[in-house]
Amino acid sequence: MKSVSVPTIRSRLVLLTILCMVPAFLMIALLLGYTYRHQQEELIRDSVASARTLTRLVDGDLAMAQVSLDVLAASPSLQVRDHAAFQRQAQEVLKRGFINNIALIDATGQQRMNTAIPFGEALPKTGVMDQVQRVMQSGRSEVSGLVTGAALKRQLISVTVPVFSGETVIYVLSGVILPEHFAKLLNSYGLPAERITVIFDPSEKVVARSLDPALYVGKGVAPGLSERLRQYREGAFELASLENVQVLSAFSRSPATGWGVAIGIPMQSLTQDLRYAMVMLLGMMALLVGLGVWGSWWMGGRIARAVRSLQVPARDLGRGEQVEVGPLDIQEANEVGEELTRASVLLQSTRSALADNEARLRSIVESAMDAIIAVDARQVILMFNGAAESMFSCPASQAIGMPLTRFIPKRFHAHNVEVFQRQEERQRHDHPGPSAGLTDVAVGLRMNGEEFPAEVSFSSVRKSGHLLHTLIIRDVTSRVRAYKALERSNLDLQQFAYVASHDLKTPLRSIGGFVQLLERNHADKLDEKALSLIHRTRAAVTRLEQLTEDLLSYARLETEGRKFEQVDMAAVAQDVVHLLDDAILSSEATVTVHPLPVVHGDRTQLAQLLMNLIGNGIKYCRDRTPQVELGAVQKDGEWVFSVKDNGIGIDPRHHDKVFEVFKRLHTQTEYPGTGIGLAICRRVVESHGGRIWISAHDGPGATFSFTLPGDLPGPSHET
Ligand code: ADP
Repeated sequence: MKSVSVPTIRSRLVLLTILCMVPAFLMIALLLGYTYRHQQEELIRDSVASARTLTRLVDGDLAMAQVSLDVLAASPSLQVRDHAAFQRQAQEVLKRGFINNIALIDATGQQRMNTAIPFGEALPKTGVMDQVQRVMQSGRSEVSGLVTGAALKRQLISVTVPVFSGETVIYVLSGVILPEHFAKLLNSYGLPAERITVIFDPSEKVVARSLDPALYVGKGVAPGLSERLRQYREGAFELASLENVQVLSAFSRSPATGWGVAIGIPMQSLTQDLRYAMVMLLGMMALLVGLGVWGSWWMGGRIARAVRSLQVPARDLGRGEQVEVGPLDIQEANEVGEELTRASVLLQSTRSALADNEARLRSIVESAMDAIIAVDARQVILMFNGAAESMFSCPASQAIGMPLTRFIPKRFHAHNVEVFQRQEERQRHDHPGPSAGLTDVAVGLRMNGEEFPAEVSFSSVRKSGHLLHTLIIRDVTSRVRAYKALERSNLDLQQFAYVASHDLKTPLRSIGGFVQLLERNHADKLDEKALSLIHRTRAAVTRLEQLTEDLLSYARLETEGRKFEQVDMAAVAQDVVHLLDDAILSSEATVTVHPLPVVHGDRTQLAQLLMNLIGNGIKYCRDRTPQVELGAVQKDGEWVFSVKDNGIGIDPRHHDKVFEVFKRLHTQTEYPGTGIGLAICRRVVESHGGRIWISAHDGPGATFSFTLPGDLPGPSHET
C-alpha cells in the first residue's frame, strides 16, 4: 500500500494554535494603535491649552507691571520734581512685585533716576530711545520685546508708561522685567522635564526657555515654528526644535500683546509609550504563542502516541492474531482500541466457524462417491479427492500440480479448451458470481491409459480476480453398458416384431383366401354351424391382418428411419381428411382444420399421427354426430397442436395408460381397434422432440395435445 505524506496531528495542532492567536494579537495591536492615537490627540489638546494658559500668565504679568508703573507715575513727587523722594517710592513698589528696576527718563532720553543706581550718581541715556519717544508722543504705555538695557547692560524687557503734568507728558517711567522672571514662570508651571517650553516676544525672539536658556534666549524661535506662527495663532505641528530635535510643537500667541508660548514634546518621548507597549505586546505574544505551541506539541504528542499505540494491535489483527488493547489516554483512541479488541474476538469466532465448515466440507469431499477436482484458470489441479484417486488410479499427491488434460484423452483436448473458454466468457460478461453447468457425457482417462465414460458437472467462481473451477465427475461405465444392452435388445425386439408381422402377412392372406374359397365353392355342402365358424374365422383373420399391419407400422417407425423435411401441416391435414372420407361420410362427421404451421419433420409419420388422432375422434363418438377440430398455437418457442372431439371422452385416470401399446379402454365389440394407434402417436411426437398428452377438459369429448419444435413461422390456410 502506498503511504501518503500528510501533516501530523502535532503540526496541525500547532498551526491551529498559531492561527487562533495571531488574529487576537493583531486585534490587540490595532487597539493599541487606536488608543495611542487617541492619547496623542488628547496630549495635543492639553498641550495647546497649557500654551494658552502660559500665554495668559505672561500677558497678566506684563499688564500687572504696567498697572504698577501707572500708579507710580501719578506720584506727586514727580509733579514737584523731587526725584529723590520718587526713588524711595519706586523702591517700595519694587519690593512688592517682580519688576527688577525702574528708570525715570526725560524727553531727551536722559535717565533722571534709576532704582538700580544710587541716587546722585551719573546715569546713562536710555537704551530704548524709540520706545521712549513713541510713549512721549502718543501718551500711551508700551511693552518692549527683549532688548539690551543701557544701565544694566543685559537683555531685558522694558515696560514704559507716560508721566503727565496736566495734558503734557513730562517724563516716561520705564520698568525692567528680567527674562529670569519668565524662566521662573515656566518652571513653576510644572510641565514634564523632557518638554521644551519657550516664551517668545512679539518679534518671535526667545525670552525664556526650559532647556538650555543660556544658549537660546535672545535668539529667534525655531524656523518651523516661526513659519507656522505667521499663519496660525494657535495649533500643534511636528517640526524641528532649535537643537534640531523632532518635536510636536503646541503653541499659542496672545492677540493683545503678540507674546506667546510654545511647548515642544520630543517625538521620541511621544512614541516611546507606544513602542514600549508594542514591545510588551510582542513579548507577550511570543510568550503566549510559545506556550500555546508547546501545549499543542505536547497534546499532539499524546494523541499521536495513543493513535500509534493502535498500530501494533491493528497489524496483529490483520495477521489474524488475538489482540487485547489496554486503556489509552485519549477517549477516541480508547474507543478504537475497544473496537479492535471486539473485532479480534469476532475474527477468532469466525475463524473457528470457518475451520469447522472447512473440516465439514473436506469430509464431504473426501467421502463423496464422485471424483471432485478443483483447478485454477490454467487448469492446474489444486484439489483431488479420494474418489478421484481411485477413479483415475492416481494418488492426490501426484495429481496435484498436474494439468487437468493429463486425465482427458488427447482427441478431446480441443473440446476441453472450448468448454473452459465458454465458462470463462460466461463469468466475465454475465455472471460475476459462481456459475455451474453440466457437460455432455465426457470421456475420462485413467493413469493406466484406460478410458471410461463420465458425466461431468462444472462450477466456477472468481476469487481475487482469478477463476477457480470445480469438476464433479461420475464414472458412468456401468450405466452406459446397461443402456447399450437395452438399446440392443430393443432393436432386436423391433426387428423381430417387424420380421414377424411382415412374415405373418402372407400366411394370413392365404388363410383368408382359402376360407373365402371354402365359403364361395362349398357353402351349399356346409351346415349353419360350419358357415358360422367360417365367418368367425374370416373376422379373426381380418383382425389379425389389421393387428399385423399396425404392428408393422409401429416397428417401421424405428427400423425404416426418418426423412426430415419442411412439412406443411395444413397440407398433411388435408390429405388425412381425404383418406378418412369414407368414415366421415358414413358418420356424417365434421372435421374443422384451423390454420396450421410448417414444421420440420417426417411427412409420413406426421400424417400417421394426425390420421390416428382424427380417426379416434370420429370413432369414439357413440350416437352423436362427430365433430373434430384441429388447430395449433405458438407458445414458448414451440407449436402446440390440439385435436378436439365431442365424443365419449376419457377418464383422467387413464390419460397416461392409453399411450401404451395394446392398451384399450373398450372391448372389440364396443369399438373395434388394436390399441396401437396412440402408442404410434407418442413415438412419432417424441422422435420429433415433442410431448403428447390429453388435456383436462370441460364438457363432452377429449382433447389430445402435442408439441412440435417451432423453428418455422407461419400458420397456413384453413379447410
Ligand atoms: P384403438 O383405437 O385401436 O383401440 P388407440 O391406441 O388409438 O387404439 O386407442 C387406445 C384407447 O384409447 C382406445 O381403445 C380408446 O379406449 C381410447 N381412445 C383413443 N382415442 C379416444 C377418443 N378420441 N375418445 C375416447 N377414447 C379414446
